[in-house]
Amino acid sequence: MKCPNCGDRTAVDLDTHSSGFSADESPVKECGTCGLVWRITMKAGENVIDIIKPADSKE
Ligand SMILES: [Zn+2]
Repeated sequence: MKCPNCGDRTAVDLDTHSSGFSADESPVKECGTCGLVWRITMKAGENVIDIIKPADSKE
């Protein structure tokens, strides 16, 4: 999956199998390029990007 912030494809799944996993939530992803942490959540039948941690500022 592409990063919604920078469009890079180096995102990796974080380890989320411990608890609180529902069918409407995809695994948490972290972008290896910008540091954004997000997941796709299903809301009212649409995929919504849920930002968990903003991208790192490297400026
Ligand atoms: Zn990114």
